[in-house]
Amino acid sequence: MDKIAIGIDLGGTTIKFAFVNEKGEIVVDWSTRTPTHEGGQHVLPKICSSIKMKMREHGLSTSDFVGVGMGSPGAVNREKGTVTGAYNLNWSETVRVREQIESSLGIPLFFDNDANVAALGEQWMGAAKDEPNVVFLTLGTGVGGGVIVDGQLVHGSKDTAGEIGHIKVEEDGFACTCGRMGCLETVASATGIVNVARQEAKDYIEISPLAQGIMHGQTITAKFVFDNIKLKDPLAEAVLTRVGKYLGTACANIANILNPSTIVIGGGVSKAGDELLRFIVPFFEQTAFPTIAADTAIRIASLENTAGVLGAASLVFKETPLSK
Ligand SMILES: [Zn+2]
Repeated sequence: MDKIAIGIDLGGTTIKFAFVNEKGEIVVDWSTRTPTHEGGQHVLPKICSSIKMKMREHGLSTSDFVGVGMGSPGAVNREKGTVTGAYNLNWSETVRVREQIESSLGIPLFFDNDANVAALGEQWMGAAKDEPNVVFLTLGTGVGGGVIVDGQLVHGSKDTAGEIGHIKVEEDGFACTCGRMGCLETVASATGIVNVARQEAKDYIEISPLAQGIMHGQTITAKFVFDNIKLKDPLAEAVLTRVGKYLGTACANIANILNPSTIVIGGGVSKAGDELLRFIVPFFEQTAFPTIAADTAIRIASLENTAGVLGAASLVFKETPLSK
């Protein structure tokens, strides 16, 4: 029988699971709602009971699995096996994740932050398959990042490397969740694009459905901005030109340091596909060191919902266990 790992993608709304073999094939997958009530205390027990139930359903036991991999929100301390600041799980304090999962399942846990894990997924089976040098950006509610150099995730001295969302791109910008101002996340996440749209709409005088929508108090989303691009809305064009400049310049600065072969853009905003790349690539090419501009591919992520579980499973297959 193939070696099988359990991949878990722990999110604030949904927990996704998969049994994955060494070839990166998903044998079984399922998901469940994240029980964030009562301080998120039921999240880890739910993960364990859901896995045990699925193992029973398929006639599998602990010895059939080589490990559990998981991508988690918040700050992951791999050495201590803890997660701090996972506010979307309602975890207000540091949670001893590894201890709880390993004692309940009896299978070793390998885990990392969710953006790092999604980066690994795309590098294993997705848009950067088999590329050893990859930078991954996820444009969702926030902006996350994962950096892979010579096939290994870069963690830095305190597991905090790859905070691409907090690269400063504006002198005086919008306030960021991190406490700073003008971070990439404030202008290039789904909420950041809306920030830019609202700012650009002020005193806008040309004919624009986007400007009209904002003026009339309509709920504005990043998708709405992209929908208006298709209608040749000049304000949407101006908004995304500005967002593309921030992203293209940030990608160029990162690429100048790391020289990745591929920069992968994932997350909800990346569903815009080529309509998003069209705004990023010109600024990347204008800003990056010329040989880097010529040799770096910028691609949309290809795995969508499975990047997290596949990346989590790949942690099991590739990461060296750390001392506990
Ligand atoms: Zn920030």
